[in-house]
Amino acid sequence: MAVDVTALRTGTRRALAKAITLVESARPEHEREAQALLAQVLPFTGRSIRVGLSGVPGVGKSTFIEALGLTLVAQGHKVAVLAVDPSSNRTGGSIMGDKTRMERLSVHPNAFIRPSPSGGTLGGVARRTREALMLCEAAGYDVILVETVGVGQSETAVASMTDLFVLLTLPNAGDELQGIKRGIMELADIVVVNKADADPGGANRTTTDVRNALRLLTPHGAAWQPKVLQASATTGQGVDDVWKSVLAYRAALGSALHAKRRVQTLRWFDDLLREEVWHAFLRAVDTAQLQDVRRRVEQADLTPVQGVAALLAPKR
Ligand code: GDP
Repeated sequence: MAVDVTALRTGTRRALAKAITLVESARPEHEREAQALLAQVLPFTGRSIRVGLSGVPGVGKSTFIEALGLTLVAQGHKVAVLAVDPSSNRTGGSIMGDKTRMERLSVHPNAFIRPSPSGGTLGGVARRTREALMLCEAAGYDVILVETVGVGQSETAVASMTDLFVLLTLPNAGDELQGIKRGIMELADIVVVNKADADPGGANRTTTDVRNALRLLTPHGAAWQPKVLQASATTGQGVDDVWKSVLAYRAALGSALHAKRRVQTLRWFDDLLREEVWHAFLRAVDTAQLQDVRRRVEQADLTPVQGVAALLAPKR
């Protein structure tokens, strides 16, 4: 599956789509090719604004992303929309599976929309999205929006690959819906109370509530105090201000942003290494011995530490 790097670098959508298909492939020969490609494009990555977006189904994510995306392409940006949805199987009702979503943005020549890689663990989906993000950057996309459903761990995965995290919420949503109880609020750099047009009073109350909650969550002396804004994705009101806040965030972080990205890359490496070492161990281990040691640990015949030592001791 040869990918034309020149076509990719000049921003051909077809070349980009093909390159992403390559990194999503589980076939070993494709994996080798994908890694060679990623190594080739690495020097051309890192020049985008990476924005994570989340919120419960129905909050208006796709409507909002389309409104924001259209504003940005009108300003001359090239916008890529990616997604992390571990439940996605492409044909089912996944967040990005619905073909009618972002109809206007998807046909714009300077927009690229890619559904979530399907199937597999959250770690696998996140890794493939991260690699797709690098490919989009190499293809000249200068704004990357990574969307996820508001259901928990996938937010952490998206926050670990983006510069900032935008959480969409609803007027008068309970704490649970707003993500306060599930720890998602802590990831948010910008909270958008969407559908403010439908319930202005509720939007005001929610804005105050979320501001108060965030004040308690944000450490003193933080470079950025999370912002709470109101918007209406359907009328477009407030969408510009969200983008202004994104830019303000970038300005506030300055060089700390590069440090943040370096930490993210190293964490990614550490996670991969841990995963690969574990797989290598499973391939090498004598299964009967592993079962025997587990049984002895269970029966308190060995301590867990002794059990691990017995398995890792060099074979004579
Ligand atoms: P998602 O599941 O989070 O992607 O949500 P959608 O973007 O599909 O929106 C769910 C529904 O809410 C759709 O019917 C939208 O038209 C509607 N919607 C989205 N944003 C707004 C908004 O700002 N105001 C109003 N009144 N409706 C909205």
